[in-house]
Amino acid sequence: MTHKLIVVRDLARLRRQVAQYRKAGEAVALVPTMGALHDGHLSLVRAARRKAKRIIVSIFVNPTQFAPTEDFKSYPRTFEADIAALREVGADVVWNPPVEVMYPRDFVTRIVLEGPATAGLEDASRPHFFGGVTTIVCKLLLQCLPDVAIFGEKDYQQLKVVAQMAKDLNIPSRIVGAPTVREKDGLAMSSRNAYLSDQERALAPLLHQVLRDCAARIGAGERAAGVLAKGRKTIARGGFVLDYLELRNAETLAPATTDAGALRLLVAAKLGKTRLIDNIAVRRK
Ligand code: AMP
Repeated sequence: MTHKLIVVRDLARLRRQVAQYRKAGEAVALVPTMGALHDGHLSLVRAARRKAKRIIVSIFVNPTQFAPTEDFKSYPRTFEADIAALREVGADVVWNPPVEVMYPRDFVTRIVLEGPATAGLEDASRPHFFGGVTTIVCKLLLQCLPDVAIFGEKDYQQLKVVAQMAKDLNIPSRIVGAPTVREKDGLAMSSRNAYLSDQERALAPLLHQVLRDCAARIGAGERAAGVLAKGRKTIARGGFVLDYLELRNAETLAPATTDAGALRLLVAAKLGKTRLIDNIAVRRK
């Protein structure tokens, strides 16, 4: 039997549904998405199922996290296929609010961020981005009031920014990260991979190869500055326009020092018109 899945577009209806789950003593998990779902998103739903009885997946392409020059209008929208996939994977509710519910005409509030949101990574080339993300995630958390919310490590800075925001604002939901799901050749799954031409798609796995190579060398004790300089050259020679390749403290995202503490290697680069991001942990031997 296929799973019963409810699509909700009305906030009062959503709140009634969540209240019903709570009354029955059922834990609730939220998986926020912008739709165009792939196996990476579905892995978050599976992770949610291990943590809560009821799963809400939000699908909302959030206009405030796109700059006017970015791809809000052309962002892939595959609602029917998304619903079929979510039914298959056992989600309970799809929260698909109209834009007027999220941003009524008189909406004026913004979240102002420091810390991991100003680490000089995504924020350097997308200054509007984390304000938009945290505004919408804060609203989604307050609308759904989940026990736990799952975010992909694929967007590592976003995961850290959201966790900090939830902590700072005392939002009573646990923010949990889930590992990046990749294609067989290592390319991190992303809704934006659909933009790549065949030729670009063949080049794209280089980003992950460079991350792995650099992480192994730094982990083995090679000097990070030299390793990163070589990695940056390899990415540029591979046909990308590099945005950043950076070694950071895995928690604060501050530039990595030689001190102890977990490390993360993060990359962003453009291939033609498509901007790709990826990151991996650096394990010291
Ligand atoms: P998006 O719809 O791209 O905004 O992503 C929604 C959620 O899915 C975010 O928490 C992302 O980090 C996560 N996500 C996107 N791609 C992947 C992936 N390849 N593996 C795991 N999680 C992912």
